[in-house]
Amino acid sequence: MGFATTAIHIGQEPDSATGAVSVPIYQTSTYAQEALGKNKGFEYARTSNPTRLALERNLAALEGAKFGFAFASGMAAIDATLRLVKSGEHVIVSDNTYGGTARLFKRILSNYGIEFDFVDTSEVANVEAAVKDNTRMIFVETPTNPVMIVTDLKAVSEVAHAVGVRVVCDNTFMSPYLQRPLDFGVDIVVHSTTKFLNGHSDGVGGAVVLNDEEDANWIGFVQNSAGAILSPFDSWLVLRGTKTLALRMEQHDKSGRVIAAFLEDHPKVKKIYYPGSISHKQHELAKRQQKGFGSMVSFDVGSLEAARIVLESVKLCTLAESLGGVETLICHPATMTHASVAPEVRNRLGITDGLVRISVGIEDTDDIIADLNQALDKVNRES
Ligand SMILES: *Cc1c(COP(=O)(O)O)cnc(C)c1O
Repeated sequence: MGFATTAIHIGQEPDSATGAVSVPIYQTSTYAQEALGKNKGFEYARTSNPTRLALERNLAALEGAKFGFAFASGMAAIDATLRLVKSGEHVIVSDNTYGGTARLFKRILSNYGIEFDFVDTSEVANVEAAVKDNTRMIFVETPTNPVMIVTDLKAVSEVAHAVGVRVVCDNTFMSPYLQRPLDFGVDIVVHSTTKFLNGHSDGVGGAVVLNDEEDANWIGFVQNSAGAILSPFDSWLVLRGTKTLALRMEQHDKSGRVIAAFLEDHPKVKKIYYPGSISHKQHELAKRQQKGFGSMVSFDVGSLEAARIVLESVKLCTLAESLGGVETLICHPATMTHASVAPEVRNRLGITDGLVRISVGIEDTDDIIADLNQALDKVNRES
């Protein structure tokens, strides 16, 4: 079954009670039991809900996984995944992972005896060198935000499996349409469904998908025990989103390519960060590992002043955090998404004051270009 067919049908068979073609929003906290110990497979809605279950089956199928779990946010999904690691154990993490992930690991989980090492996972030798006797997990994000560093999922998985360590990949930026980490040996995929999977900027959610039964049992146990579940309504919104994921990602990717090329040629743009560009040093790896390049493009206009002019002059593009929605969003990583990262780390990673990140939406490509063009025109030579 192809991706689009899977997205539309798996987990979404017509409702057995009524025949409803769209999975109903089962807005209930509990379920009537026919007799003591006899129920229809649902007892209490933290443990299980038919709408959430439909989404969990759908997301697992899209990533080619056996098991899926939906959480209240991407961060809740990542937090639950880290419950596979115990006090005294060690985790290797991509060094420019999503800021919320770094915050959770450094500020919270490290208080509970879990050790973290942040390394540039785009060089597999760094991963190999960071492995210790107590390493239990390698957590990678690819491409990373906002400078689009790509990690070789197959190479990292080989290093990890040689020493019996699991690999987790945050696949939020690509979505399963453009990248399927499990196909490269990755063990667990996490998502912020808030982004491309939902795709309409109207709900926060997260997911964990995996194949290993023992790990899946534990994630399910954590989901029920800690209770950071996705609500029936939000589950339904993500289900509605995944039905058009293939179409949306095709358009995101198509426009992303055109807009990246426009930015790369623009005289006011000093540098672009986009794995689809032949100037990206991991372009070949991105081509091998991804089905497309997505719609995330970052570009440097040289100074805070120039970035401010661009961000305050756009009319169609919306100045906002987040990404992956149908509408084009534009942001300033240094003062928005990465404000909590130390300036010297920001500079090392390329997150300069002149860096602008755009999440290309699915409006008409020409309209997005015209808007960026008029905004870049306002940047004068000195700024
Ligand atoms: C947004 C995001 C998260 C966090 O997800 P929330 O749904 O906001 O909790 C994690 N990883 C990446 C790559 C993200 O973009």
